[in-house]
Parts: sequence; structure tokens; C-alpha cells
Amino acid sequence: MKNLDLSSGAAHFLSPRAAVENTIAALQKNETFYGEIAGLPALREAVAKRYETDYQAIISPEHVLITAGTKHALFTLFSVVLQPGDEVILPAPTWFGFTELFKLLHVKVILLETVPEENYAITPEKLEGLITEKTKLFIYSNPGNPTGRIYTKPEIESWLNMLETYPQVKILSDEIYDLIVYDQHKITSLKQFPDPQQKHMLVNGFSKNFGMSGWRIGYIIAPEEILKKCVHFQQTTISGVNPFIQEGGVATLESLPEFLPERIEALQKNRKLLCNWLDKQPEISYTKPDAAYYIFADLNKLLQTEKLRQKGLTTSAKFCQFMQDELKILMQPGEKFNAPGFVRITFAVPENDLLETLQRLSVFLEQQ
Ligand code: PMP
Repeated sequence: MKNLDLSSGAAHFLSPRAAVENTIAALQKNETFYGEIAGLPALREAVAKRYETDYQAIISPEHVLITAGTKHALFTLFSVVLQPGDEVILPAPTWFGFTELFKLLHVKVILLETVPEENYAITPEKLEGLITEKTKLFIYSNPGNPTGRIYTKPEIESWLNMLETYPQVKILSDEIYDLIVYDQHKITSLKQFPDPQQKHMLVNGFSKNFGMSGWRIGYIIAPEEILKKCVHFQQTTISGVNPFIQEGGVATLESLPEFLPERIEALQKNRKLLCNWLDKQPEISYTKPDAAYYIFADLNKLLQTEKLRQKGLTTSAKFCQFMQDELKILMQPGEKFNAPGFVRITFAVPENDLLETLQRLSVFLEQQ
């Protein structure tokens, strides 16, 4: 039986042609020496321009740092703005990458619990209730991984207004899925808001929007003082990102209209297939995602059915392990996202893989 991997954070799309060609050309031109620490000027400019085009946000390329993937962007920012023992507020369910990085840096995570019944809302009251004098950062991902939830302009505004009374609490928005949106939705970038206290930080990258996870290109947009420290951190740790790789990044941003719309259409089709199937499962509930390529499904009811209990499948972790061993279907258990009882299903897979998955799941559930 073929393995069906719906657990990955990476879409199955190939890298854009223009990226591959530009990188090959750069290698042939011997762009193989150290480059500028903060990144290729052409790429920093292209990133600033993208935020102007997509969000009408005026950003100086000087405030952009190109990093080796978004994880390294996060690691860099956390390293320069946080000290061991500091507290950060992190909405849950949350991507496990954040919590792992905080563990590494001995930073204390305060989870802000959000629930599907409230459409994973974060209210300023909930947020304020978690602030102590040790709180140094509020981080959120927009759209959310694993929920696909888009936080709206009024919502973000309400957090920012409240956080103005806490100047020591910086704000970080992870916008790595910002272009993967459905049904005319659009995300609101943190860069669209004024930043009088110079404490708004943003990360993004090429892994998700453009299917370029192996290239390791990400970036930070931050106020001058913070960015200076990040550049120093980058100089000390990795001396900058490979210049020929960044040339591929420039070509990607220039060629977006040639490949992005058809990918979104394919994802939208898969989302519909999966939602239609889930709608027919009385024991599984979910919130339809407006963005990204995951469905975070609630299995709590299913896990309480007699048949699953008889098989010992009483938790989402056990359920996912069983699916992997017996049905060769890989999914991420909710335990990894601080949400036991849920599973994260990636629908950025070939349509046939998704259909085969749903077929195997239907047979399994009908046998119950
Ligand atoms: N942030 C979020 C919310 C993610 O989901 C991921 C990847 N799963 C990353 C950051 C890391 O991305 P990159 O491949 O650019 O390091």
C-alpha cells in the first residue's frame, strides 16, 4: 500500500521555473562568495516592494533582513529580543516550531487558549489577562497554523491598542502563509498599522507561499534598532544567506502571477473535496480554513465511540499512529499543537493522494 503523507508542512508544488533558472545563472556567473550580511539588495528591495503592492505598507529595504528560512528568522528575533526567564504569550493551538525554539532559549511560554466554538478568537481581554511584568512578547501567526484562521484588521487593531499601554511587550506576526488565501480573503499584515513604539516585528518566507521549503529563504521586517541587532546576530552565526539562492528568490517574486493563481485554484479544489467529505462525517467537526493548507479536525466525538475505544484509539496521537501503521496515512496529531483530540490534515497534496486517503478513511469508518 502506498504511503499517503498528509502530515507535511510543505506543499507538493515544485519550485518556480524562474527561481531555478536564475539560481543556475547566478552560479554560472560565480555568485559564490560571501554576500552582504543583511541580504542581496535586489531581494531586500523586492520584499519591500511586495509589501507595498500587497498591503500598501511603505517599508524601507533597510528594515528587511534576509534569513536562512523563517525558522532562522524567528530564532534570530527571539535571540535578540528575549532573555532566559522572559515570558511570551502564544495563542494555542500553535505550531510546534515556536514552542521548540522557546524551549531552546529558556523562555517561558504562556499559552493563550483559543477554541473552535469561538472561531479561535483572541480578544484583548484574554490577552491582557496573561500579561505580567515578565511578558516581553506576544506572537501570533496570521493565517494560523494549524487552524488556517485569518485575524482581521479590527481584531489586530484591538490587540495593538491594548498593548500600547505595555511598551515592554513587543509584537511579532508570522505571515508565512499570507498568499495562500481562499474565496477572495486577504490577510491584514502587521505592517499596515502605525508603530509609534517601534516594537512591531514580522517574519515571512518562501517555503509555503511558493513551495520552496528546501531553498531556506525567509526574512524579518523590523524597526531599525531591532533589525541592527538581528544583522549582528546573523553576521555572528551564518554570515548571510547564499547569494545564488537569493537570486532565485528575486526571480520568484518577479514571476508570481505566472504560477501562484493556478496553485491556489488547485488547493481550493482540494479544500472543497476534503470539506465535502468531512461534512458527511457526523463524528468529526472542523472549522473551514480561510487560508493556508491545513484542516484542523476535532476527533473528540469519534474517539469516544465504542469501536474506536475497543481498538484502544482513545487519543489523537494513538489514532494517528494507527492510521500510519495500518492505513499508511500520515497526519499530525493535535498533541503537537497543544490541542489533544484534534488532527492536522494537509491538503496541499496531489488530488489523487487526497482521494485515495478519503477512500481508505471511508472504508475504515464504515467498518466501525
Ligand atoms: N512559521 C510557521 C507558522 C510555519 O508553519 C513554518 C513551517 N512549518 C515556519 C514558520 C518555518 O518555515 P521555514 O521553512 O521558512 O523555516
